[in-house]
Amino acid sequence: MHEAVIIGGGQAGLATAYYLVRAGVDTVVLDDQDSPGGAWRHVWPSMTLFSTAEFSNLPGWPMPTFEGFPPAAHVIDYLAAYEQRYRIPVKRPVTVDRVEYDGAQYLIHAGDRSWSAVNVIAATGNHSAPFVPAYPGTFRGTQWHSANYPGPAPFQGATVAVVGGANSGAQIAAELTRVAEVTWYTRRPPRWMPDDVDGRVLFRRNRLRALALGRGEPDPGADSELGDIVALPEVRAARDSGRLQARAMFSSLGEITADHLIWCTGFRPALKPVRHLLDGREPKHPGLHLVGYGDWVGPGSATITGVGPYAKQAARDVAGTVGKTVK
Ligand code: FAD
Repeated sequence: MHEAVIIGGGQAGLATAYYLVRAGVDTVVLDDQDSPGGAWRHVWPSMTLFSTAEFSNLPGWPMPTFEGFPPAAHVIDYLAAYEQRYRIPVKRPVTVDRVEYDGAQYLIHAGDRSWSAVNVIAATGNHSAPFVPAYPGTFRGTQWHSANYPGPAPFQGATVAVVGGANSGAQIAAELTRVAEVTWYTRRPPRWMPDDVDGRVLFRRNRLRALALGRGEPDPGADSELGDIVALPEVRAARDSGRLQARAMFSSLGEITADHLIWCTGFRPALKPVRHLLDGREPKHPGLHLVGYGDWVGPGSATITGVGPYAKQAARDVAGTVGKTVK
């Protein structure tokens, strides 16, 4: 029996735990991974952040410095050190199957183990729920998703169709143009951000949106003038050399003759254990909170630097139910 159980030990779960542990709330984090790092443990080998370390901070402790855009390994080390620094009690690996509410408390089931808690924070991210849009027809080659893209090695000398006009599609397509014949499909012409713009500008915009919503004002929305794709060095080089060119989307999978098809079409919130406890996006019962998940929860909530205010708000609400205070 705990005052709070957090499901998911990625950045959102840890940021929430940071506030709860400091406030003296009896908290446990259940995470299905073998070691720290959340989704960052599963990104492709060459993937880097689209912003520098000084703009990628969780509450309390800045990310250690890194020259240029940090790779996922740097984030994983940071999350592992963050967990230890704040003595966040994480149990691994624990896969939560289902959460039930009995009218007073939550029962959290993971195989033959269970926990109970007055409050549950779902911070399960979206990595385990890759999204693939439905298209008619049959593709005869091998299908992948950016969630399991292993880097360029298996695609050497092959023909590859990459689908998706956002950052993962551009980065994967750019990388593959060095080893394979790539066709890059996007729903609309790619919208490049100015070359001197990186994640900082997006984070600032997210903050403005979150503040406006917090004041009860209408959501000013993402900056539609800015574009979708951060021109990271390898992406920019592929674009400027003409190797990376987009083609309009196919209407049937049967049109694709490539050996491989890689969907870079995003993810959905991985909410299976608690979905029946939600009415749309809203919890049906008191004591259930969602943290992370991007626009589902609030602008910037799925970024390292943006999750802090959402984690703090959830922690405040939880601490209030057990007579404690988050400062
Ligand atoms: P996760 O990191 O997914 O953590 C959730 C944890 O919960 C995971 O360990 C998961 O395995 C676990 N879990 C899930 N279900 C269960 C269950 N049933 N039981 C127990 N555990 C469970 N953000 C930035 O700030 N800067 C960037 O430059 C940046 N670049 C990105 C590039 C790419 C290609 C992608 C995909 C994302 C990027 N992001 C970036 C976004 C963001 O930081 C990540 O998506 C982040 O991992 C979200 O953190 P989270 O804690 O919400 O989810």
